[in-house]
Amino acid sequence: MGNGFDIRLETLVNPGAPALDAVATGRGAGIPADVAGRGTFFLETFGCQMNEHDSEKVAGLLVARGYQQVETAEAASLILYNTCSIREKAAQKVFSRLGEYRGLNTGEKKIAVLGCVAQQEGEDIFTRAPWVSLVCGSASYRKLPQLLAQVEAGEQRVAGLDNDTDETFETEITRRDNPWRAYITIIEGCDKACAYCVVPFTRGPERSRDSARILQELKQLADFGYSEVQFLGQTVNSYLDPSPSKMKFSELLIEAAAVPGIRRVRFTTSHPRDFSPDIIAAMDADPAICNHVHLPVQSGSTRVLREMQRTYSRAEYLEKIALIRSAKRRTAITTDVIVGFPGETTADFDETLSLLDEVTYDGVFSFKYSPRPNTPASSLADAVSEEEKSRRLALLQEKQRAIQSGTLQSLLGERFEVHVDGKSKKENAWYGHSSCNRVVSFTSVNPQLLGEYVQVSISGCTANSLLGEHIL
Ligand code: SAM
Ligand code: SF4
Repeated sequence: MGNGFDIRLETLVNPGAPALDAVATGRGAGIPADVAGRGTFFLETFGCQMNEHDSEKVAGLLVARGYQQVETAEAASLILYNTCSIREKAAQKVFSRLGEYRGLNTGEKKIAVLGCVAQQEGEDIFTRAPWVSLVCGSASYRKLPQLLAQVEAGEQRVAGLDNDTDETFETEITRRDNPWRAYITIIEGCDKACAYCVVPFTRGPERSRDSARILQELKQLADFGYSEVQFLGQTVNSYLDPSPSKMKFSELLIEAAAVPGIRRVRFTTSHPRDFSPDIIAAMDADPAICNHVHLPVQSGSTRVLREMQRTYSRAEYLEKIALIRSAKRRTAITTDVIVGFPGETTADFDETLSLLDEVTYDGVFSFKYSPRPNTPASSLADAVSEEEKSRRLALLQEKQRAIQSGTLQSLLGERFEVHVDGKSKKENAWYGHSSCNRVVSFTSVNPQLLGEYVQVSISGCTANSLLGEHIL
């Protein structure tokens, strides 16, 4: 695969999506005359990888309607803002940004709010920001073409806010932004009911995609030149194939890894309850399935886990860690932790710290608990003070830094296969990811390595990444 900027990514037509004639040959080509030249759009995204990938699909949908993507909000006739409401801070940003967009609106611009804040705030957005024309939650994206048609027809307040759908968001084209790693959502929504989390409310119930469609899309991506794919889902390993073939998640991984041209298959996020031995057996059977598992724990205290409604105890979680550690290859494990959940005592928090020592994670994403509307935990008493949450977060991050530093030091002298995804400004300096998802920066005299897989010998490290030299 060549330089990402040369790739006509919008030529990828998704299988199974409703047909639009001849959108197959590059930017603008094949777009029916009646939709060509609709206008320009600017799309800003906050939040998780699923939001990023939803935005790729929304962009594809707009390109298919004849819109052209532009780099600035100023240059766009349609501004779309894909939002995140997982924590309060992210949600707060939305209205201040909408205020900025209002300032740009000198007349004909249309403004759309998509994603989790749209779902959460609903039509109240029109009251707080009357210059917004479209509000669409992530569970309603399948209706976006109709909703956009209403906006184009001049309707002022268009809303898509259902979350009782059993359909997934299929688009005809996906405007892929990452030229090295292709994302495929295999399951949308979430049926777990973690007491702190808005996702089941904002993204609706779990809906898995037909396995044949997933594999068809993957084959097309491989034909196009992609060699690395990442399956996405809030609980990716809870995948339940709705088609008669009833393919298990682990079988889907094996099938995906067998697609000619595919060298790496990733998946995130795994839910501990559904992490079963057959997933490890699949990783053992085919090294193309990457040796990295993101397995959010949230807390090391069984009492807090119960309050969080996480469906496992500390001991059960550690059994899953032992299972991953039993894999043939050393498998990187990363996690998410929330500190300061209502009622979390210092003894509970100490159990989280001791869990970090016990597991020696390769990476930890840590957050202060943030009460969210419509969640069971928002009504729980005994809130931990902001100051105490900050203290616990700092302690946890300091501990993890020390653990990670030890792990990275222990890797000096090893050799990693790196998929090169960037060139640094410095001469002969490149970076990329290992199968276990570590960032590796390295030197090489080779003049062109983007998209290549190279062997790198590790000679140093920073706080979060490995340093090395290309083995020629
Ligand atoms: N589905 C994944 C799971 O089961 O862990 C992740 C969902 S969420 C997008 C990513 C992370 O945000 C969670 O793992 C959790 O650590 C954090 N998170 C979710 N709700 C939160 C809240 N109310 N306050 C603080 N952190 C939160
Ligand atoms: Fe939220 Fe829990 Fe579902 Fe993850 S599993 S998305 S944390 S409710």
